Amino acid sequence: MGPWCPNSISDDDSAGGIWLDNGTVYDVDSEFVSNLNTFYNDNTWLMYDDNGYIYITETEDDCINTANPNVGEEYENFCVECIPSYINDITQTWTIPITPIALTTTYSFNSAPGATSGPSTIGIALNGIEFSAPAPVSNILAAYTLAPFDDAGGYINVNQGYYYHAATQDIVDRYVITQTFGHAELIGYTMDGHGIYARFYENGNEPTDLDECRGHYDDIRGYHYHVDNAGNNNFIDCLKGAYVF
Ligand SMILES: [Zn+2]
Repeated sequence: MGPWCPNSISDDDSAGGIWLDNGTVYDVDSEFVSNLNTFYNDNTWLMYDDNGYIYITETEDDCINTANPNVGEEYENFCVECIPSYINDITQTWTIPITPIALTTTYSFNSAPGATSGPSTIGIALNGIEFSAPAPVSNILAAYTLAPFDDAGGYINVNQGYYYHAATQDIVDRYVITQTFGHAELIGYTMDGHGIYARFYENGNEPTDLDECRGHYDDIRGYHYHVDNAGNNNFIDCLKGAYVF
């Protein structure tokens, strides 16, 4: 896990995580932090002091205070991070069908615009980490905070522990089951029990026949999903099968 916030604008890109904006994955490095005002076209952004040190949240209270939708002005221009030592004693249990049950309608996730039902968890990676709903990037930015993901797309809050917001290359490189005939790698299972696979086939192409949920069918895997572009802060768009309430 980590790192999330770099310490200084002279650090290289290994000192910080990533930021996802409008389809692109950005390294949170010196260049990115130094140019936030240009990037967001707003001179309120200035996330470092005269010596180049980045303002970073320091305590578990800071972590909790910056996780709500109305982040106080005192956190303006802070890089927000919650670290593993804030987490203790979290147990999470997900119930996922072993045999998926296809439905004639789809389930949205409750994080989708206008959705009032559906699960908030998208699924579980093969390493046991939750694929979570999209990060509330616009709320974070509206408070002039930046809450970088680590290079795997992971983030921590004190209620959920560590979870992923996007299927980064880091996940595809480390925690997968490779497939035959050039199909994309299995990276986990969604809440309806279907397999969720990397975005690209071995030849670098994305499937062209994905439905509205980002799923399709083949004879080896049956119905399954392929993840969205990590820069979209998203995994898939809906469930085609029943999930356990
Ligand atoms: Zn496929």
